[in-house]
Amino acid sequence: MNQDLQYDAIIVGGGIIGMLSALHLHEAGRRVLLVERGATGRESSWAGGGILSPLYPWRYPDSVTELAVWGQARYPEFLQELHSGGGVDPEYRPSGLLILAEDEIEKALVWASRFDATLEATDADDAGRIAPALATRRAGVWLPRVGQARNPRLVKSARAYLDARNVPIQEHTEVLGFLTEAGHCVGVQTQRGDLRATQVLVAGGAWSGALLADLGSPIPIEPVRGQMILFRGDANFLSPMVLADDRYAIPRRDGRIVMGSTLEHAGFDKSTTHEARDDLYEVATRMLPGLAKFEVEHQWSGLRPGKTDNIPLISEHPKLPGLFVNAGHFRNGVVLALASTRLISDLMLGREPILNPAPYAI
Ligand SMILES: Cc1cc2nc3c(=O)[nH]c(=O)nc-3n(C[C@H](O)[C@H](O)[C@H](O)COP(=O)(O)OP(=O)(O)OC[C@H]3O[C@@H](n4cnc5c(N)ncnc54)[C@H](O)[C@@H]3O)c2cc1C
Repeated sequence: MNQDLQYDAIIVGGGIIGMLSALHLHEAGRRVLLVERGATGRESSWAGGGILSPLYPWRYPDSVTELAVWGQARYPEFLQELHSGGGVDPEYRPSGLLILAEDEIEKALVWASRFDATLEATDADDAGRIAPALATRRAGVWLPRVGQARNPRLVKSARAYLDARNVPIQEHTEVLGFLTEAGHCVGVQTQRGDLRATQVLVAGGAWSGALLADLGSPIPIEPVRGQMILFRGDANFLSPMVLADDRYAIPRRDGRIVMGSTLEHAGFDKSTTHEARDDLYEVATRMLPGLAKFEVEHQWSGLRPGKTDNIPLISEHPKLPGLFVNAGHFRNGVVLALASTRLISDLMLGREPILNPAPYAI
C-alpha cells in the first residue's frame, strides 16, 4: 500500500452495494472511506422490496443466478450478524415465494434442478393452501426457502454495523470526478475538495453511468423507476410473498403489505403518480381482495440501476487502473449484494475470487 495516500479505498455511494463493499474491505483490514452525496441508504436500496430472489429466477442468465445462489446460502446468517453487530434488525423473514406462472413450470423445474434450488410445482389447490387470501388460484411454483429483508431496516442495519466498527462515512459530499496520476486512479474530486486513496470503487447505483461517462468505456446503466404502495395489513392476512403477472405482494413481519412495482423509464425523476397508485391498488385488490379493508398508508418510488441484460458490472475499469465499479444490479440489487460486494472486494484485494469474474467485466 502507498502510505502517502490517506485511505486504501474510497467507496462512492452509500446504498446497499457501497455499504456492504465497505464492510468486506474493512474486515480485510483496509482503511476505507465511504463518500455519499446525500445520506446513506436513501435511494434504491431504501425503496426496494427486499425479496431475496430474482423475480421468475429461471429467466435470468446463469451469471445472475450464480451471484444470487451464493448470497441466498449466506444471507440468513449474515443478516443475523448485521443485527447483532450493529443493533438494528434488518427483519429477515423466511416467508417463501409463491409464483403463479402456469406456462413456465417446466422451465422453472429444469432451472431448479440445474442450480439445486428448492422449488415445487403447485396447482391451483396448492396455491390456495399456501396463500388462502388469494382470489385467483392458479398453478405455478413454490420456493419455500426464499426469504426477504425489509429495505429501510436493512440499510439502517448495514449503516449501524459500519458505525459500530468506526468505518468513516462522509455524507453530503458529491463525487464529481477522479484524480489520476501516471495513468492510475488515486482518488476523487468532490465539491468539498479532493480525497486521495490507493483504490476507488464506484457504487453509485443508477447514477454510476453518468459519473463514469467521461472515461471512455460505455457504462450502460440507466435509471428505471419503480413505485410501490404499502397497505396497513395485519399479521394474519398473508404469510408468503406472492408474485403474479409481474406484480408482487410482500408481507412484512408487522402485517404491513408492500405491493409493487412499476417499471418506468422516466429519467432521474423520482415522483410518484396517481396512475401508478391506482394501478397497483387495482392489481393488489384483484389478487388479494381482502386487502380492500386495509388503508394504503404510503406510496414511494426508487430508481433502479437498470441494465438491459440484468448482469451487474463488477470489475476494474479497463481505462483507469485503480478504479473499480460495482453497479447495475437493476431489479436484483439486494439479493445479489452479498456475492457482488464480496466479489468486488476479492478483486480489489487480489484475493481468490468467489466466482469467475469474467461475466461481470466492463
Ligand atoms: C421499487 C423497487 C423494488 C425493488 N425490489 C427489489 C427486490 O425485491 N429484491 C432485490 O434484490 N432488489 C430489488 N430492487 C433493486 C435494488 O433495490 C437495487 O438494485 C439496489 O438497491 C441497488 O443498490 P445500489 O447501492 O447500487 O444503489 P442505491 O441504493 O441507489 O445507492 C447508490 C448511492 O450512490 C449515491 N451516489 C450516486 N452518485 C454519487 C456521487 N456522484 N457521489 C456520491 N454519492 C453518489 C446515491 O446518492 C445513492 O445513495 C428494487 C428496486 C426498486 C426501486
